[in-house]
Amino acid sequence: MLQPDYYINRVTGLTLPFLRRKGIRGLVLDVDNTLTTHDNPTPWPDIAAWLDTMRQGGIGMVIVSNNSDNRVRPFAELLGLDYVADGQKPRLAGMRRAARRLGLSPAEIAVVGDQIFTDILGGNRFGALTVMVAPLGPETVPFIKFKRVLERGVLHGRQPQELEEV
Ligand SMILES: [Mg+2]
Repeated sequence: MLQPDYYINRVTGLTLPFLRRKGIRGLVLDVDNTLTTHDNPTPWPDIAAWLDTMRQGGIGMVIVSNNSDNRVRPFAELLGLDYVADGQKPRLAGMRRAARRLGLSPAEIAVVGDQIFTDILGGNRFGALTVMVAPLGPETVPFIKFKRVLERGVLHGRQPQELEEV
């Protein structure tokens, strides 16, 4: 339940051929340290272009973030993405809402995020494919720093991989 199905460096490493091979038609996307650094209002470089590629490939996308509406709404609007704020991952309610909006079942969805105990645990419980990304920035919140130590234990030396080699 704590192991991601895949572990990659950047969300932009997710490609249409990979998603097609896995039967994935929609993405549930985390924001902080996945699409940009924590509380940064500006998407990380290449994110907008990657989102366009996904859209053109028919991949539906919804942001599910545990951060507040004040944080998530302007960011989602900037990227033209639907969103669920205060998602309370690893609880399932936020991901269920996202799946309903996508019109997809959990097996057709990949949950993407940088934290094992929220994104990955929630996605695995939900029955989705789980893709962990290496965090974009250093952690500044003490509680998250503490969770990073626990995550290293769970990952057991596991390193990010290139999906084209999968
Ligand atoms: Mg995050």
